[in-house]
Amino acid sequence: MQCKEATSLIIPFIERELPEDKLSFFLEHIRNCKECREELEIYYTIHMYIEGIDRDWFSTYNFKGEFEKELKEANAYVRWTNIMSFFKDLITAFAIIGILIILTLQLQLWGLVG
Ligand SMILES: [Zn+2]
Repeated sequence: MQCKEATSLIIPFIERELPEDKLSFFLEHIRNCKECREELEIYYTIHMYIEGIDRDWFSTYNFKGEFEKELKEANAYVRWTNIMSFFKDLITAFAIIGILIILTLQLQLWGLVG
């Protein structure tokens, strides 16, 4: 992912509207690109500041900590979906193997194989 694309995804990310398929690429770019990470942090802080005006958070709110937490959660979410899709593939593979075994046994039963 290029910086230009990554920066265009900052607002959707902050507003939690980033599509799942782009999220992992975005986070990977943010991990490796200092400029985009800084930009995200600035946007995030501004966003939280604007939200906070309504909610009177300022006495206790820790923007930096909250930003780190948000990033960590997003990364955990991507890892989790990766694990889930791995298991989905695994289950699919087992299902196919199972069908093949049943098919082979059935063919043997009919005397077509072995
Ligand atoms: Zn970048």
